[in-house]
Amino acid sequence: MLSFSERIEAAQANPERIAAIQRAAMRFYNHRQEGITSLPDADAARDLARKIRAHTIAHLDEYLLQLEAAAQANGTQVHWARDAAAAQNTIRAIAAQNNVRLAVKSKSMVSEEVGVNHALQADGVQVVETDLGEYIAQLSGDTPSHIIAPVLHLTRQEVGYIFQDNLGVSYTDDPLKLNDIARQTLRQLFLRADMGISGCNFAVAETGTTCIVTNEGNGRMVTTLPRIHVVLMGMERLVPTPDDLAVMLQLLARSATGQKMSVYTSLTSGPRRPDEPHGPEQVHLIILDNGRSQALAGEMAEILYCIRCGACLNACPVYRVIGGHAYGSVYSGPVGAVVSPILGGMAAHGDLPHASTLCGACQEVCPVRIDLPKLLLRLRRQGVEAGQTPLWLRMGMNGFAAAAARPTLFALAQKVAGLLLGGTWKTTLPAPAAGWTQFRHFPPFDRQRFQDRER
Ligand code: SF4
Repeated sequence: MLSFSERIEAAQANPERIAAIQRAAMRFYNHRQEGITSLPDADAARDLARKIRAHTIAHLDEYLLQLEAAAQANGTQVHWARDAAAAQNTIRAIAAQNNVRLAVKSKSMVSEEVGVNHALQADGVQVVETDLGEYIAQLSGDTPSHIIAPVLHLTRQEVGYIFQDNLGVSYTDDPLKLNDIARQTLRQLFLRADMGISGCNFAVAETGTTCIVTNEGNGRMVTTLPRIHVVLMGMERLVPTPDDLAVMLQLLARSATGQKMSVYTSLTSGPRRPDEPHGPEQVHLIILDNGRSQALAGEMAEILYCIRCGACLNACPVYRVIGGHAYGSVYSGPVGAVVSPILGGMAAHGDLPHASTLCGACQEVCPVRIDLPKLLLRLRRQGVEAGQTPLWLRMGMNGFAAAAARPTLFALAQKVAGLLLGGTWKTTLPAPAAGWTQFRHFPPFDRQRFQDRER
């Protein structure tokens, strides 16, 4: 696997893609600003949403048990998965018991986290993504680069070639025609599928209901047409009551895309009843831990408030210049820089908390006011404590500490720096500090020390 800086270099090597990412992220960002101001009292709504999330996470054990009981009372089969392997095994077993040959999937970050597609494909099950962005990514062998807009890094011309190469259709870059091609192709698959797999934006503990929001209607097909519906849910994605769900829905779409509501909000409460003509015969709810309870027990629990709206990605100046793939994780942007080390470990993702200027733009737009800069700093501290600081930085900091603790040495160093670099902006620095001046200039030292001026 490439290192973080190699992934950034790879992203930077494609300026058209970076431009596409910047355009799309800024569009979402601006729409979010308009969407949030359309709420009569956005600040109060965000405060309430944070309160609900904080309360839910603080009582997660109770609400999860309540959800399990209510879902079972609805006829849903509930499964608990400690980690990705357990989730994979559960869904493979459900597929094998029901002779599933074709599964259709709506967008689910948890299924990406767990690697559901590969697990089912290894058993000979065909898995087809049905969210348009995910479908394009699957056709081209790509991975999602944004939580809510998986292929925001692609231009419509690139999508035109992907469809031409993979679906045997004539090239077009007309978005309406591309949509139509996808719709015609996917419709046949919805009708034939044995299993539908969805994520879960929220589950309601009181009623055992799961909720997904989409803009394309594919989620509704996935959850109602196949005879089996499997819901994959991160264990933190629940709210206590339907009223709490309404608060979250007010904020989710506005924060994500600026819409007042997503086009489709689908609520599922178990399989079809005996007197109902439509709907799945079985509904399975897989509740995934995969490192979340460890986060809950430590100083990073606040990240579990996240409702995966993606607003922090669009607001982040770092995300906008490196794109989602550079993060090397299913989750990118500021939320990914916090979630990825928690779920995947500091050894694999210890660089990500440094992918931030700590400007606070992410916290400012977060609908549940997660203090992302604070969490990023905590992870950086954990990295230092785990000895992950690069040698050059350790040596530099040790050198600074040694000089700063000795006033004579410190004064001498200031004088030397003033003499060598005084009054001059450096546009480039030599290695290993060269990367620092790749996108900025090194500020000049003053020729005269501050202490000398005071005398
Ligand atoms: S951290 Fe906040 S802004 Fe970012 S995805 Fe989660 S809820 Fe949205």
